[in-house]
Amino acid sequence: MKEETLGALVPGAALQLRGIVAGYGEVEVLHGVDLAVPPGRAVTLLGANGAGKSTLCAVAAGLLAPTRGRILLDGDDVTADPPFRRARRGLLLVPEARGLFPGLTVEENLTILLRSGDERRQAYERFPILGQRRKQVAGLLSGGEQQMLGLAPALASPPEVLIADEPTLGLAPIAVEQVAAALAELRDRGVALLLVEEKAREALALADTVAVMELGRIVWTGPREEADADRLSETYLGVARV
Ligand code: ATP
Repeated sequence: MKEETLGALVPGAALQLRGIVAGYGEVEVLHGVDLAVPPGRAVTLLGANGAGKSTLCAVAAGLLAPTRGRILLDGDDVTADPPFRRARRGLLLVPEARGLFPGLTVEENLTILLRSGDERRQAYERFPILGQRRKQVAGLLSGGEQQMLGLAPALASPPEVLIADEPTLGLAPIAVEQVAAALAELRDRGVALLLVEEKAREALALADTVAVMELGRIVWTGPREEADADRLSETYLGVARV
């Protein structure tokens, strides 16, 4: 592929997507997406239902091959690498239920995911609801509780890049705060965060940079200070100003 059809290389980015075109069968969903996430920063990808956010996460993690474009981790081209190789290089995707063992209890999952008793104790301290659900099988946890379980190993041993697809979807307010605090801590420890959200207000809280996706394209990007939640919601997300 010709270099000029790809977005510019961003020096120092932990994760970079350049000119990503991808879809399912004949249907093209992403039409050339450029995105860069530096270490220690949070980039929030905002977009209405069906905009292509989850598809972009799948491409970044190696679950879906792009038809064009490149994925770089720490400057190295990993486009041809399968998900486990990207995971070994420090990329972690935390959508609901992935990476967990749905038939095993919370406690059994944590025993597999975390090596030491200390790490497991810290996970229960941070997310007390997991302690209450200790004996419950992971497959029966709510989506938000599964997110917490998925985040526990990241907190014990931070990845280079964490992609979280709607990390607070369906969570009670107290749990939203716990997940947001965990994500903020990871960012402050140098993790490059790519967060996917559907609602502007939630998204802006953690974001350093906001990228708005519409119909498979990034249509607005800028620092959080320039992002006006009401205007973004009204213009791109189909939500009327209240
Ligand atoms: P949502 O927030 O609703 O998940 P999204 O922005 O994450 O939306 P995607 O899930 O990436 O959007 O979906 C983008 C488009 O791709 C939609 O039109 C969807 O129907 C289609 N799509 C998603 N997954 C598949 C799949 N496995 N096979 C075929 N089409 C798919």
